[in-house]
Amino acid sequence: MKKLAVISGPAGVGKGTLVKLLTERNDDVALSVSCTTREPREGELDGVSYFFLTKEQFEEKIGQNGFLEYDNHFGNYYGTPKDFVFKTLETKNVILEIDVNGAMKVKKHFPDAVLIMILPPSIEELKKRLIGRKSETEASLKKRLERVDYELSFLPDYDEAVVNTDLEKAYEELVAILKK
Ligand code: 5GP
Repeated sequence: MKKLAVISGPAGVGKGTLVKLLTERNDDVALSVSCTTREPREGELDGVSYFFLTKEQFEEKIGQNGFLEYDNHFGNYYGTPKDFVFKTLETKNVILEIDVNGAMKVKKHFPDAVLIMILPPSIEELKKRLIGRKSETEASLKKRLERVDYELSFLPDYDEAVVNTDLEKAYEELVAILKK
């Protein structure tokens, strides 16, 4: 069986870009597709962006212990389906791009998972950039900044940390971790 890697990190750190590079450049790396009960947005395809389920279907799957982890965001369920992840792990390394809470649940149920935290070169710079986005209300900005500290406080629970100073270097470090 291949590796299950969880990639987390504060907003704005470049996780999405790194995960995209990993899956685009490596045939043996796949991104896990989550289940959700929210409505598909324009252009989102079932089984690609998410597996779109009804609330009843999702709750049935919870009852069958079908999720590695799940959570509720903004009134909708989101979860990592065990069946999809384990089937994909037969042939590929699987990446979960999830937050620290989800990561802790995955580690508990699947201790072999490798938890990787992506860090900014400077936490102060990252916060300045988030403040610079200006598209947010004071309250939501405050929440976002607190969230950065919250996510980083889980660093001791992670197996690996990759500082994203240089995108290509960070990418190479991730590849090396997956190959270990
Ligand atoms: P969106 O609706 O914008 O696609 O996602 C909303 C939130 O759900 C994001 O914060 C995203 O990280 C989170 N999310 C997406 N998939 C999962 C999942 O499988 N598990 C958990 N716990 N959260 C998820």
